Amino acid sequence: MKKIILIFILLTIFISCKNDGLIYENSFIIENVNLIDPIHGLKKNMSVVINGNKMIKIYKTDSIKLSSKNKIYRFAGKYLIPGLWDSHVHFSYERDLSKAMPNLFLAHGITSVRDTGGEFDFVNKFKQDAIQDPKTKTRVMIAGPLIDGKFNVYDGSSKALPLLSIKNSNLEQLEKNALHLIESQVDFLKAYEMLSPEQFKLLAEIAKKNNLKLTGHVPLSMNVIEASNMGLNSIEHLRNIELSMTNESDKLFQERQDILKNKSKIKGSALRSMLHKKQRMRSIYDLDSSKIKRVVEVLVKNDTWQIPTIRLVSSKAYKIYKDPEYTTLLEVLPLDKKKEWIQKINLISSAPDKEIIDYAKWASNMVNFMQKKGISFMAGTDTPIGFLIPGLSLHQELEDLHNSGLSTLETIQAATINPAKYFNIQDSLGRIKSGFIADLLVLDRNPLEDISNTKSIFAIIKDGHYMNRAHLDSLLSHYK
Ligand SMILES: [Zn+2]
Repeated sequence: MKKIILIFILLTIFISCKNDGLIYENSFIIENVNLIDPIHGLKKNMSVVINGNKMIKIYKTDSIKLSSKNKIYRFAGKYLIPGLWDSHVHFSYERDLSKAMPNLFLAHGITSVRDTGGEFDFVNKFKQDAIQDPKTKTRVMIAGPLIDGKFNVYDGSSKALPLLSIKNSNLEQLEKNALHLIESQVDFLKAYEMLSPEQFKLLAEIAKKNNLKLTGHVPLSMNVIEASNMGLNSIEHLRNIELSMTNESDKLFQERQDILKNKSKIKGSALRSMLHKKQRMRSIYDLDSSKIKRVVEVLVKNDTWQIPTIRLVSSKAYKIYKDPEYTTLLEVLPLDKKKEWIQKINLISSAPDKEIIDYAKWASNMVNFMQKKGISFMAGTDTPIGFLIPGLSLHQELEDLHNSGLSTLETIQAATINPAKYFNIQDSLGRIKSGFIADLLVLDRNPLEDISNTKSIFAIIKDGHYMNRAHLDSLLSHYK
């Protein structure tokens, strides 16, 4: 009998030894990946414990012995990066595409987006959906409508000019509209091109007082230095900065003031196009290096960030959408939308446009110069404008940012930690760190070696919810 008990005791010890090791209850473990934190860079052979929606422990794989009772995903040789942001999207630009956009974003590893202009109720619905269902929906930060001046550009008058903006004829209206947006809990504000300097100044004061970032295009009535000094926290598409970087900047400024009086009362969109046409390339072809230096110094001093949307320009310049291969990429779109885009693309000439190519080169060189001077960037696309495919286009933007001079790690920062900093949520999002929200991508290949490897998505973890490749592919067929 004693012998039997002894055998029993020995057997029990053997079993518990076999299972000896840590158990993380109600968790899962991403084991043995090469982790790329946007601040610390690459760490090899690491494991990450995810509990609920957070990472609760990160450790060198061989430093902890795990019990086999844990739920473990073994990913030797793969790479882990934070979920990506597209910091410039428009849900309401093509409303018939908007329903497909959340899945398109998520399936491409875009776990957060920043909507830079659209009717409040329309874009807020996407934001609220994501708050309700963070495990399967991409996070959405919204500006609500563009805040524009008396002759607003996006006035809803045609399909090419959907109602993305609020017209403000005077200061009182602007104050009322801005405060209403703030009460409605927008995440930031966006100033547009037809604002007067007085309107812009008031808007910047309101934004600052309410602790919100003010982004925008430099108003045509101002120069970029003035706008930055007044409190423009970030600039989209480098819009209108070249007008302050040319030999003739003072003359162009005067010319704009006269035209902006708009005596013949033409529409805001026509007025804006006319000014761009008259002044953009004139500026690009007559740059003054001392003025460029001065402008960039001011942007650095004021910490004015840039969302250069390089792919939007390069795609138009090099007619990337005319490449037959692009039709294959459009397969992810809903069928009707794919057909519509192909028809529109077919109407565009393949002949190169020298001015647009020169502008694209300038934009890329400007990013390079600004990067060296210490300006912060966010990766954004403007999708679905310019036939840029929601989700996929962010990866193309990363390639363009890298080709413009950002290192691969800096490029990853522009789509992870930088937008988190922009929204002041950098203590919970945008890194691979214990206590942070588990928005993560598992990649087959190393994006530090080749930035296009951000596309090699093996799995996604959103708010602690694991989705494998098959699941992500099924997201892409949902809305078809
Ligand atoms: Zn935009």
